[in-house]
Amino acid sequence: MNSTKFLNRSSSQLASIFKAQFEAEKKKLLFSNSYMNEQFHLQKDDLLDELDLTTVEMETSMRMRLRNREAIFLKKIEESLQRIAEGTFGQCESCEEEIEFKRLQARPTTTMCLSCKEDEERQEHIHIDGHRSKSLGAKLKLA
Ligand SMILES: [Zn+2]
Repeated sequence: MNSTKFLNRSSSQLASIFKAQFEAEKKKLLFSNSYMNEQFHLQKDDLLDELDLTTVEMETSMRMRLRNREAIFLKKIEESLQRIAEGTFGQCESCEEEIEFKRLQARPTTTMCLSCKEDEERQEHIHIDGHRSKSLGAKLKLA
């Protein structure tokens, strides 16, 4: 095998590795979404008095937040699969250079190379004054 050409965009090797990973992750997310929907319907039908309804509403908003995060992740996976199909996976959307393989391994849904991402984060830092969520990024990371 020609491992030196591993990062070559024309090679489908990189894409096929990540495609399998994305599809497994997508299946997992879709399953947990349908599972949560089921739970949610059960509770709303079963608990009808006002006190319990408040609990249900609190739980619902918690679930919604969780689902939003999963929905964002799912969207990132869909976009990554789309990029694989288009043959642009692993390409920085900012400078169009190849994204470092190590970076893709750590964060497969990334669309920017490290130096572009650092530029962007520096700018965000200036604008939002360090108020961005680091925990979200960590949660979304494919391990
Ligand atoms: Zn770049």
